[in-house]
Amino acid sequence: MLVARAMSECHMYMDLHPCERCGEADFPWTVHEAAERAGQRISSYEGDCPSCGTHRRFEFVVLDPNLPPPGLGGPEPSTIIDPGGFFEVGEWAAGALKVAPDASPDEVADAYDAAIDAVATVEEILKFLPPGADSVPEEAFTSGRGHAIRAADPGRFERSRLEATLAERRRVLVDLTARVEALRESNGW
Ligand SMILES: [Zn+2]
Repeated sequence: MLVARAMSECHMYMDLHPCERCGEADFPWTVHEAAERAGQRISSYEGDCPSCGTHRRFEFVVLDPNLPPPGLGGPEPSTIIDPGGFFEVGEWAAGALKVAPDASPDEVADAYDAAIDAVATVEEILKFLPPGADSVPEEAFTSGRGHAIRAADPGRFERSRLEATLAERRRVLVDLTARVEALRESNGW
């Protein structure tokens, strides 16, 4: 059973798991069920792959279903997304941060959402670092893709580089927050 810390973690996990049959990343689930089982919150997502029609289903135990998005969990590291997975989502998000000075409100809002993910994913990778360790231990990588991402450049998972990336992405998030707020004021959102 997949144990997610929060609802947002379920969504990120599904983003990282393309269709088993055809590789399609998009999964527009159409059925969502939430249930209590043995005192645990179970959350399931079902739907058809838009490319090949395969019926897909994910079922999670959600430890803290009340943690609001974009929160992914508390101080404990994920058990279903490894540091390579967070790195991958963080790179996708970091690629969507640039907005032109004359960008539309929607474009600014999308970049703002991406900046939140870009920051959160680095914070999540740092949770895998034992106190005092200089880099994420190899045993934290539990997926084949995670191992490949680490092997391509192990320096990505060094504390100093992660902290520098986090500081930079937080600066971008602060800038985008100011832009979103300015748009809200001028448009009376
Ligand atoms: Zn498919």
